[in-house]
Amino acid sequence: MTTLDVDVAVIGAGTAGLSARREVEKAGKRAILIESGHYGTTCAREGCMPSKLLVAAADAKHAVDGASRFGVRVEAARVDGAAVLARVRAERDRFVGQVVRLTERVPAGERLRGSARFLDRTTLLVGDDTRVRARAVVIASGSSPWVPPPFDAIRERADLSADVFEWRALPRTLAVVGTGIVALELGQALHRLGVETAFFNPFDELGPFTSPRLQRAARALFARELELHLGITETSARVVQGGVRIGWVEDGAHHERTFERVLVAAGRRSNLAALDLAKTGLPLDAQGKPPWDRRTCQCGDSPIFMAGDVIGRRQLLHEASDEGHIAGANAACFPEVTAHVRRAGLAIAFTDPQIAIVGRSFAELPHAEIATGEVSYEEQGRARVMGANAGLVELYAERASCRVLGAEMLGPSVEHLAHLVAWAVQQGMTVQDCLSMPFYHPTLEEGLRTALIALAKKLDVVGGCRVEDLPDECPGM
Ligand SMILES: Cc1cc2nc3c(=O)[nH]c(=O)nc-3n(C[C@H](O)[C@H](O)[C@H](O)COP(=O)(O)OP(=O)(O)OC[C@H]3O[C@@H](n4cnc5c(N)ncnc54)[C@H](O)[C@@H]3O)c2cc1C
Repeated sequence: MTTLDVDVAVIGAGTAGLSARREVEKAGKRAILIESGHYGTTCAREGCMPSKLLVAAADAKHAVDGASRFGVRVEAARVDGAAVLARVRAERDRFVGQVVRLTERVPAGERLRGSARFLDRTTLLVGDDTRVRARAVVIASGSSPWVPPPFDAIRERADLSADVFEWRALPRTLAVVGTGIVALELGQALHRLGVETAFFNPFDELGPFTSPRLQRAARALFARELELHLGITETSARVVQGGVRIGWVEDGAHHERTFERVLVAAGRRSNLAALDLAKTGLPLDAQGKPPWDRRTCQCGDSPIFMAGDVIGRRQLLHEASDEGHIAGANAACFPEVTAHVRRAGLAIAFTDPQIAIVGRSFAELPHAEIATGEVSYEEQGRARVMGANAGLVELYAERASCRVLGAEMLGPSVEHLAHLVAWAVQQGMTVQDCLSMPFYHPTLEEGLRTALIALAKKLDVVGGCRVEDLPDECPGM
């Protein structure tokens, strides 16, 4: 048994773990970075980047398919599935290579390969033969896809999101289990690339929306294009010749259908089980999670810190990175621990139309104390110009202060509007502050202004320009 003594042990060489390690190095302390799997991070290897590469291919096909509505005639596009997937892999491998090189720049003596688990609060066993004694530990072990019953019984025949990027050809038919962000991004992209795709969810929910109006709008909008089976019961799955036969009950009727492939994208669970956290003496909740503070990333008052997907809160790249920095800096200085100000919430799904939740969601707000401004993108000027006129945005402001608090968004390119709103939320801007900012014409941002004007009217306030002068100057604002 080898024993290593370090200041900080970091479990996981993903985005959060790499950020944490950097902070320890900056503080002049000795870290050891422990990784049980491949270097390269979930983001680059099987998450953000390859999924967006697949969406980009689907966008290209969709643009060609929709060209005739602008009077641009093109022969029917043919998707070369093998070529699409080869580009996804080639670009993915470039991104992964960059991260691997970055990780391997960490001196070899400061890296360990193997699975880590706790022996006590500050001692880890890595693999079978290395003991690490640390002054503090950062858990950045990420998350893994959850496979719900009955699909766990056919696990070896089901695909998880990471498997999609290893396909050599597109299937003819696909069942997608789940209607969350990952399921919608991948499922819609594959549908647009010509795969006959059907979505299944025992719940009546689609996407991350917490506003009932946005939920309804999203269900109606995606149902125009996608085959959705929501609120289903008695789901069954068995392997048959040529694929998987799925059975389900919908509106009282029993259905069965065979799909060449089944993509299970029903959410992700924290990688905690293998860590043996019970040995730390920390109190654990029903899911085996210790207490955790979002401003310090500390677990109780212990020398243990957590960062990234493992927390199971907002499983997003920038959150993992921020938490890694906070956890690493605090672990390096433990027992001195500093509370950090967190950024405004921002989550985006690269579906079409896009989805975003900004600042505080509808469900997180005290409804009696907020006003809602909204805009439909059905008639919005620039959206119509682009032939992308679909969607709804709700913008929330505090009645007492007129401060913008959050938004739920469904519409064309809302990734950009979401950033504007997130910046306004974080800056504590009021509805009037936002309205005094410039808006170019004709842009999708003008839709945001329509929602702000609706809010200003409800709050009975005016911005840097007169509210009554703003709308209707030009068509389609
Ligand atoms: C399909 C998909 C699309 C996504 N798209 C987006 C997007 O568009 N935008 C966005 O912001 N986010 C997106 N995400 C989420 C984003 O990828 C994650 O939030 C982020 O990568 C999490 O980083 P992390 O460091 O917490 O975990 P990871 O990068 O997963 O790192 C955890 C590491 O810990 C290692 N590990 C686990 N247990 C142990 C152990 N016991 N001992 C040692 N090592 C261990 C693992 O092998 C892993 O390498 C997407 C995710 C998926 C799956």
